[in-house]
Amino acid sequence: MYSYSFDYQRAADPKSAVSALTADSEAKFLAGGQSLLPTMRLRLAQPSKLIDVTRIPQLKQIRVEPQKVTIGAAVCHADVANNTDVQRVLPALALLAGDIGDQQVRALGTIGGSIANNDPAADYPAAVLGLDGTVVTDRRSIPAADFFVGMYETALHADELIVAVEFSVPEKAAYEKFKNPASHFALTGVFVAKTAGGVRVAITGAGPSVFRSAELENALNANFTEAAARGVTIAPDDLNTDLHASAEYRAHLIPVLTARAVRTALG
Ligand SMILES: Cc1cc2nc3c(=O)[nH]c(=O)nc-3n(C[C@H](O)[C@H](O)[C@H](O)COP(=O)(O)OP(=O)(O)OC[C@H]3O[C@@H](n4cnc5c(N)ncnc54)[C@H](O)[C@@H]3O)c2cc1C
Repeated sequence: MYSYSFDYQRAADPKSAVSALTADSEAKFLAGGQSLLPTMRLRLAQPSKLIDVTRIPQLKQIRVEPQKVTIGAAVCHADVANNTDVQRVLPALALLAGDIGDQQVRALGTIGGSIANNDPAADYPAAVLGLDGTVVTDRRSIPAADFFVGMYETALHADELIVAVEFSVPEKAAYEKFKNPASHFALTGVFVAKTAGGVRVAITGAGPSVFRSAELENALNANFTEAAARGVTIAPDDLNTDLHASAEYRAHLIPVLTARAVRTALG
C-alpha cells in the first residue's frame, strides 16, 4: 500500500499560516482537502506539511452589504448556499454554491480552495470573473481579470494566502451550467452579470481556464434578451475536447447556456 508521512499544522491567523509556509517550501495550505487530498492520493503531490487554514476566524466570515458581498476564503460552499443574506442580495452566487458537487463536497470545499486550484471546470471562477470580483490575499488585492492565469494556474505566489473574495452586487445575474452528472463539475458553465458598467459573460468548463466572451457581451449590451444570446456563434478553435465533450459541442453549449442565464436573470 502507498503511504508517506507529512506534518500537519493548524494555523490560528493569516500571519502564522504564511510564515509556516515560507519556512517550508514543500508545505501547502489545506482547506477542505477536496482537491488537494485526491491529488495526494493519486501521488501527484507530496507536500511535506499541510497548514490547515480552515480555523482562521478572519477566513470564515461572510459580510453582506447593499452593494458588496465578501466571502472569507475558508467559507464552505454550503454556508454560501444557505446564507439568507447572500440569497437575498446576490442569489446567483448562493445558487451556484448550492450546485457544486454533492453534500459532502459542499460541506468541506471552500471558495478559497476552489479559486486557488483553478480547475478549468470549477464553478466559482465564473462568478469571480463574471462579477469582476477582487481576490484579497494576505498582502494585496488582485482583480479577477489578473487572477486566473491558465489551467490550474493563478497569479498567487507560492506562499500567498487568499483571505477573502469581494463581489460587487450587479443589477441582475445568473449562472447556468451543463454539468457532468457524476461530479457536477461544469462541462460548460456560463455566468452572466448585468452591471452599471455593462454586461459581463464569463465561461468555465469550456477552455483551459475561465474566460469572457466579447461576442456575447456585445450582443447582450445591445439587447439583453435570450434571442440575442442565441444569435451568437462561438468558434470552437480554442475550446477543450476531452472524453466528456468535443470543442464543437462546448461551442454549441455556450450561447444556449447564456440564453438560459439571461432568462433566469430576467426572472
Ligand atoms: C467529488 C467532487 C465533486 C466536485 N464537484 C465540483 C463541482 O461541481 N463544481 C466545482 O466547482 N467544484 C467541484 N469540486 C471541487 C470542490 O469545489 C472544492 O472546493 C475544490 O476542489 C477546492 O477544495 P478545497 O476548498 O477543499 O481546497 P483544498 O483541496 O484543501 O486545496 C486546494 C488547493 O488550494 C490551495 N488553497 C486552499 N485554500 C487556500 C487559501 N485560502 N489561499 C491559498 N491557497 C489555498 C491548497 O494549497 C491547494 O493547492 C468537486 C470535488 C469533488 C471531490
